[in-house]
Amino acid sequence: MTQSSELDMTGLHWMMQMLQTADVGLVVLDRSNKIQLWNSFMENHSGVRTSKARDQNLFQLFPELPEAWLSRKIESVFTLDSRAYSTWEQRPYLFKFKSYRPLTGKSDVMYQNITIIPLTGIDKSVSHVCILVYDVTDIAVGKLELQKANAELERLSRTDRLTGLNNRGFWEESLVQEFRRCSRTQGISSLIMFDIDHFKKVNDTYGHQAGDEVIRVVASTLIQMQRETDISGRYGGEEFGIILPDTGAQEALIMANRLRQFIEASPVTYEDMEIKFTISLGICEFNSNLNDHTQWLEHSDQALYQSKRNGRNQANIFEQHPSQTWVLKVLQVMQS
Ligand code: GH3
Ligand code: MG
Ligand code: MG
Repeated sequence: MTQSSELDMTGLHWMMQMLQTADVGLVVLDRSNKIQLWNSFMENHSGVRTSKARDQNLFQLFPELPEAWLSRKIESVFTLDSRAYSTWEQRPYLFKFKSYRPLTGKSDVMYQNITIIPLTGIDKSVSHVCILVYDVTDIAVGKLELQKANAELERLSRTDRLTGLNNRGFWEESLVQEFRRCSRTQGISSLIMFDIDHFKKVNDTYGHQAGDEVIRVVASTLIQMQRETDISGRYGGEEFGIILPDTGAQEALIMANRLRQFIEASPVTYEDMEIKFTISLGICEFNSNLNDHTQWLEHSDQALYQSKRNGRNQANIFEQHPSQTWVLKVLQVMQS
């Protein structure tokens, strides 16, 4: 053997040692998916010894692998002589390995990025492919936790703490959206505003904590009784709003009275005290005379005020005085 070929052999030997011990999974496959190289990363994580893996068909050795998907990838590397990739975000892992990293005690599986590279022989044609398996559990767990934390922050930023309902900011934004939707499509939609009657008395008689409990119960009753498409929110202290898409004022009135009657008939028990209370409601259906969502709110509020004035524990629909309607129309024409 010449000196240079001895060096080549030594170099090759070194390289094999490096490949064997690299902290990356390496699998070399021939044209018929038979394993030609299986390094110690693969050995350690799969529990399959190199001696057993050698010359075995990859898919027979690991029947749980996504064969159709992986075969297609491997085939494209063979035929196109170019790399193929898959990230943990597309597919969390290829080989179902356990994660042993102490840092990431929170994940059971090893998240993996996969690269498949073509290996060419002396005649420059692709004779084998190499699958590289990178353990990216630390990165994946970090990113997933960040996403979870962000989602929770977003939820908190739109949720009222006492009741779990949408808070005023988020709910009002939803009302703006609904106003725009109706303006654009001439859609039907109603708004209900309601307020607990004589709530000051509840606080004064039973204490602020009891008052809080009453507000919580009203919120959970509301959630139970509303339709999936309704959007409710806590507008103020003891004031709430419900947006009812695709609902006319008469239908909203039925919903309002159902809620009112249920609340009237269901006193809240707090520390052995039975607290009876009622609510007053105001309804306004969307119409194209409304300038903006604020006016929609104002009109519902006026109907609510009407319910208070008429003796509370009732619901009223906002009614524009006929003369107001035509004055508005004239004003609109003059402005345009
Ligand atoms: P009305 O029938 O006219 O609505 O009378 P009211 O007493 O309900 O109305 P008012 O607006 O005068 O009083 C509302 C009270 O609600 C005043 C405030 O101290 C109380 N309040 C507001 N937010 C909260 C809260 O989060 N918890 C409790 N316990 N009380 C609250
Ligand atoms: Mg009140
Ligand atoms: Mg009030």
